[in-house]
Amino acid sequence: MSAAPTPRKFRSATNLVHGGTLRSQFGETSEALFLTQGYVYPNMESAEARFKGDDPGFIYSRFSNPTVAMFEKRVAMLEDAESARATATGMAAVTAAILGQLKAGDHVVSPKALFGSCRYIVEELLPRFGVSSTLIDGTDLDQWRAAMRPNTTVTFLESPTNPQLEIIDIAAVADIAHKAGATLVVDNVFATPLLQSPLKLGADCVVYSSTKHMDGQGRALGGVIVASEDFIQTHIHNFLRQTGPAISPFNAWIMLKGLETLPVRLMAQQKSAERIADFLAAQPEVARVLYPTRKDHPQHALAMRQMSGGGSVIAFDVKGGKDAAFRFGNALEIVKISNNLGDAKSLLTHPATTTHQRIGPLARAESGIGDGMLRLSCGLEDVEDLIDDIKAGLKAVG
Ligand SMILES: *Cc1c(COP(=O)(O)O)cnc(C)c1O
Repeated sequence: MSAAPTPRKFRSATNLVHGGTLRSQFGETSEALFLTQGYVYPNMESAEARFKGDDPGFIYSRFSNPTVAMFEKRVAMLEDAESARATATGMAAVTAAILGQLKAGDHVVSPKALFGSCRYIVEELLPRFGVSSTLIDGTDLDQWRAAMRPNTTVTFLESPTNPQLEIIDIAAVADIAHKAGATLVVDNVFATPLLQSPLKLGADCVVYSSTKHMDGQGRALGGVIVASEDFIQTHIHNFLRQTGPAISPFNAWIMLKGLETLPVRLMAQQKSAERIADFLAAQPEVARVLYPTRKDHPQHALAMRQMSGGGSVIAFDVKGGKDAAFRFGNALEIVKISNNLGDAKSLLTHPATTTHQRIGPLARAESGIGDGMLRLSCGLEDVEDLIDDIKAGLKAVG
């Protein structure tokens, strides 16, 4: 007797096209969209077995659906992880990943530099339910160590951060968290699973807004939580099943198809971002450019250690504050003004007056978000057209 052959292991671009596919009896080429709430059973015994867990089939689309399962499996394969769960939005993923682990009396540590809604959860929502939180400067490892308490159960970070693109040492924070008996959840939206693998760096759980690069064409909202099977079963599965922030199978289908082209899109967008960052850095109207793989990024060495590329987003300061930043944005033709990112369309954001307006001038100053700061999410347009557009913006500044 010969041993069973080990299944062939494919590289990520291949898995992003084929991974997790569940083909129906019709043998469709493209992944099927199962727009169904529930499932029918051939007999009463079969329904009983499904609910007892003896038969692993689908029960109800609040927590199990074939199209959603394909999306989850494909993301899990990309992360080399055991398990993933999709959610209606990125914020639903963040909320479940954090809240699913907590009870009253627990303590959470997180950097101040967080996506606005993530900061609301840690700073305002959790304390209402008896969970205290400490917000720190995430780039300072001593502050992480000092913030740990005996009841610290969860640490949560985002790297690169939005919009300053600060890099936080994921491996070091995972170590500090684990020594204190806490877990580390990483919001990996800016890097995407292709440029950074938080689980391999020691994180316990990774969350995404699939609204961003996974969809990649600005259509649907979605989120996904990636972790070990044990983590998902202990903290996530039941929370999602019973509270119900489920992704629509239609949106999961969009994400699933988006994953097929993710490497091609992201690499093209990153190439444009690298080129535009270098261009901006050489312009007299620009005071500062922040892009992780540029040598002048404050945490360049760390970025090179934990990321395989700088991604599609650039932050930069124009000289002349808000007026200059507004003149720049208003002079653009191709680049659209929007608070979103990761789209095929290039998008420009003025964080001080939009995404980070609510936190106030003091918190903005603390986080290095000046009135002249702009965030550019590079799309798929011809990079020469984008640079011409930026030149027009800079002319309006100067
Ligand atoms: C967009 C975003 C989110 C929230 O995702 P939604 O899909 O809009 O809910 C969370 N974290 C980061 C870093 C994001 O960019």
